[in-house]
Amino acid sequence: MQGRTLVELIAAKRDGARLDPTEIARLVQALMTGELADYQMAAWLMAVFFRGLDDEETVALTDAMLRSGRVLDLDGVSGIKVDKHSTGGVGDKVSIALAPLVAACGVPVPMVSGRGLGHTGGTLDKLEAIPGFRTQLAAEDFARIVREVGCCMIGQTAEIAPADKRIYALRDVTATVECIPLIVASILSKKLAEGIDALVLDVKVGRGAFMKDISSARALAEAIVRVGTRAGKRVVALLTDMQAPLGVAVGNAVETREALDLLLGEGPSDLLECTLCLGANMLCLGGAANDEAEARVKLADAIASGRAVRTAERMIEAQGGDPGVVADRARVPVAPEEIVIESPRDGFVVQVDALVIGLAAVAMGAGRTRADQAVDHGVGIFVDKKRGSQVARGEPLARLRVRAGSDTGTIEERVLSAFDLADTAAPPCPLVLDRIDVSSTSGHDCG
Ligand code: URA
Repeated sequence: MQGRTLVELIAAKRDGARLDPTEIARLVQALMTGELADYQMAAWLMAVFFRGLDDEETVALTDAMLRSGRVLDLDGVSGIKVDKHSTGGVGDKVSIALAPLVAACGVPVPMVSGRGLGHTGGTLDKLEAIPGFRTQLAAEDFARIVREVGCCMIGQTAEIAPADKRIYALRDVTATVECIPLIVASILSKKLAEGIDALVLDVKVGRGAFMKDISSARALAEAIVRVGTRAGKRVVALLTDMQAPLGVAVGNAVETREALDLLLGEGPSDLLECTLCLGANMLCLGGAANDEAEARVKLADAIASGRAVRTAERMIEAQGGDPGVVADRARVPVAPEEIVIESPRDGFVVQVDALVIGLAAVAMGAGRTRADQAVDHGVGIFVDKKRGSQVARGEPLARLRVRAGSDTGTIEERVLSAFDLADTAAPPCPLVLDRIDVSSTSGHDCG
């Protein structure tokens, strides 16, 4: 039987019809071979933006994007391999502590991470603040380190889901990024290419997040859980607060230092809580604990016994970095000058705007506005006063770490403007807003 032409497939989605899995695979293959032009794929993406994809179509798109590249072979690693993915936020350095912590509890963590873009930071930039640390490794070295150490953290290679790279670049310039089935296929195709068995997704919600409101975050989380489950993986999603930065440090080196603090049982309480919640879910999915309470006991023991620290040191060493940074965080270089942002009044901090802080960090050079820009690993911001803190006039709200002679006037104003001060304290906000697993997802489709 003669199938529909590529143009007919674009028209079918434009008119709201379903495509079958082989048709979706054909579109992706045709993009990669050049038979389908970028502008035709862009037209199809816009049709998807308006018409949606059902779960079967989203699974097919995920699978086609995954198959456009290589699936990492982790068969030599025993155990249930579990990764965590965050949709991105400000001060989110969880992965750096979480991977060795979970690995120290016996669950292998193969982690392929991204770079920062816009106001959100990226794990790779933070890891590269560690002297010598390499994030570009051959697939064989990645598999060996996961097998020997229990965890490894690398960047996406050209071999992992190359169709996602092409499609994401088109979405970026055609206003089709904010489309749940396309986001689901994009995230899952890369994650499934890591050779994982299970995934814990951290969907950030709020001012500093990609998803600004809880209903869109929940829709994304439910779609990823449903589609990931249909693709044969165990998937759980947590919705976590990103109105305010996570932890105190924002910037590359300062965040890496703060993440390493956690492994020594130190560090900000919100960061610790987020890490333990995600870690507990990873241990349950990985078969190392029966419930969250048991998982938390194991995570606490991995910290108290020093096993988490030793796993981090071994991972850093295996990836070419200086393992001494774990015991001596001052070996992660930070910019030398400190500028204090003082409170203009007595009162309570009722909010710290994560988006404003994230954009200030980018303006300081800690992040990038274009994918090809370099970052300054050493600059950063300490958000010393968090939501709920009482402050006196003149007390430090935040501190900037900058290079000598930098012109920071507008940055200082921006950082100050992120703080909302009032006469009375606001009630505390929960950090974990919801948990979605396969039993809590309904039969809806992504569209
Ligand atoms: N992150 C991704 O990897 N893909 C998207 O489409 C959006 C966020």
